[in-house]
Amino acid sequence: MRRSKGKTFPQICHGKAAFIGKKEFFKEILTMAREIITLACTECGRRNYTTKKDRKKTTGRLERSKYCPFDRKHTLHRETRS
Ligand SMILES: [Zn+2]
Repeated sequence: MRRSKGKTFPQICHGKAAFIGKKEFFKEILTMAREIITLACTECGRRNYTTKKDRKKTTGRLERSKYCPFDRKHTLHRETRS
């Protein structure tokens, strides 16, 4: 962890990591950096998948061709706000 001048963030991080445990702390960091989104089938509207989106890399709505168990085929799944 890099120390930044005049900021107490590293200290807060350290305290929090000790409090909630390192594993949970890293999970939290990942969740903050990557937004968890839901992918819904464009044909039946069911929400079959969740994925993580990197806000910096991905702009706009995410679209993936995924298998829909309800339609029993690959359909286009689009990002929905949960
Ligand atoms: Zn479907």
